[in-house]
Amino acid sequence: MNAAEQLGQITSEVVVCTRCPLSQTRKLAVPGEGPATAQVLFVGEGPGGRENASGRPFVGPAGEFLQSLLTSIGWSRSSVFITNVVKCWPPGNRDPMPEEKQACNGYLDRQIFALQPKLIVTLGRHSMEKFFGPGRGISRIHGTTARWRGILCCAMYHPAAALHQPSLREIIQQDFARLPTFLEEAMLEPVEEPEPRLATPPAASPAEDAPSEVPQLKLF
Ligand code: SF4
Repeated sequence: MNAAEQLGQITSEVVVCTRCPLSQTRKLAVPGEGPATAQVLFVGEGPGGRENASGRPFVGPAGEFLQSLLTSIGWSRSSVFITNVVKCWPPGNRDPMPEEKQACNGYLDRQIFALQPKLIVTLGRHSMEKFFGPGRGISRIHGTTARWRGILCCAMYHPAAALHQPSLREIIQQDFARLPTFLEEAMLEPVEEPEPRLATPPAASPAEDAPSEVPQLKLF
């Protein structure tokens, strides 16, 4: 299967998935969207109420801010792939539980395997923990990069954080302004093969990444 076919297969599995209890309360699963050729993957935390109703990621106020951030650096939403750590809405916009993140982790890994992105941008703490490891503070490492399975990753505040804390707006804008440079660097550097480049994509199995259980702000 080519990348588009793999992504389509993942989407078809996610929309009927019952691997965790979030399947019982969601209206629509939100697999993610974007072109199979996307070089940049944005990973949020989980769908909010509007995403649950529409089946699309980042369509509420946080999505509008994300759109403006992308525009500010000359990128279009249609050129990047956007998804979340968990694909179904946690009721009341609560944090996803560790077992929910674990149950859903295989889908994200398979999306990464299919896309082979040059740059992964984490939006919020739950996403940051997968790629940067647990116990890291978003206030300390936002705007910085690390490698995950050979792929350059950049940690960002969730756009919704700026809606709750306006003082973060400028910080997020400054961090976003660095993304084109990070992507240029990622394109130039001979990166090591991402681990997901396997003969067959990893199954939707429990996470290898041990999620932290630190509570976080409600972001939607
Ligand atoms: S959150 Fe993920 S694992 Fe849980 S039901 Fe939705 S798609 Fe399946």
